[in-house]
Amino acid sequence: MRLKLAGSILSLVLAGLACSASAQDQEEVQIVVEEVSPKVYMLTGRGGNIGVSVGEDGAFLIDDQYAPMTPAIREAVAEITDEPIRFVFNTHWHEDHTGGNEDFSEAGSLIVAHDNVRKRLAAGQLMSFLGQESNVPPAPDVALPVVTFDHAVTFHINGDELRAFHVLNAHTDGDAIVHFKEADVVHMGDIYFNGFYPFIDASSGGSLEGMIAAVEQALELIGEDTAVIPGHGPLSNRQELESYREMLAGVHERIGALIDEGLSLDEIKAQRPTDEFDEEWGGGFIAPEQLVEMVYSQMTGK
Ligand SMILES: [Zn+2]
Repeated sequence: MRLKLAGSILSLVLAGLACSASAQDQEEVQIVVEEVSPKVYMLTGRGGNIGVSVGEDGAFLIDDQYAPMTPAIREAVAEITDEPIRFVFNTHWHEDHTGGNEDFSEAGSLIVAHDNVRKRLAAGQLMSFLGQESNVPPAPDVALPVVTFDHAVTFHINGDELRAFHVLNAHTDGDAIVHFKEADVVHMGDIYFNGFYPFIDASSGGSLEGMIAAVEQALELIGEDTAVIPGHGPLSNRQELESYREMLAGVHERIGALIDEGLSLDEIKAQRPTDEFDEEWGGGFIAPEQLVEMVYSQMTGK
């Protein structure tokens, strides 16, 4: 399961386009539907986890994975509700969360996202990850968010209030967290990688400090029983999100202290600053040494 996720994220990061994995491969991926609460579901397939609100006002999707997944996502949503997919919300611009925009938009869904999601999708991006660069071409106009916001936006649908709010420079510079007030669910986007070290896209304005602050904002908002949908990894809860926050803060503190001492990247690596967290978090697509490299580079600008 985690290996599959790793593959999907790496194909985004290193190859930029879904062309690294053929459409055929992606069509074979099954969408798994998990009920989170009576009107909220989590869909997993290939790419970021999808949140779905259903009810009489129509389906509301949070993120839409890679483009070739669209037919399977449609089928899965049709099994939950007869209503059309009225809104697609993007938690950030990465292709494993926005790849379906073009098809959903052409079929009549309204795409909504933070201002910077539209800017980055429209401009195309040069992504940088551990010394490797990949070029993501501009998205076609039809795939761009039609409604954008700077701080927050609330959707009053399906008997719930879905409040989406921007968090500053976290995984990228266009992240939003979505809180379902009535259903007591939160969708974290890629602020939260449940069970493994996160990717922080500094080339899109992301930072570890921002990730920690964003997790703290979410923790202030949610209760003991809130269901937490991570960007990647299994459905989660407050307790696990707290331990994720502790890991992020620990990594930040340890690497930050070594940077302050003036140590070089190699010297910092040799000290194994993430040691105590590696067993629980180091088995995903970002290996411990890569996390150190990524955080060092982002914190020092080197
Ligand atoms: Zn992402």
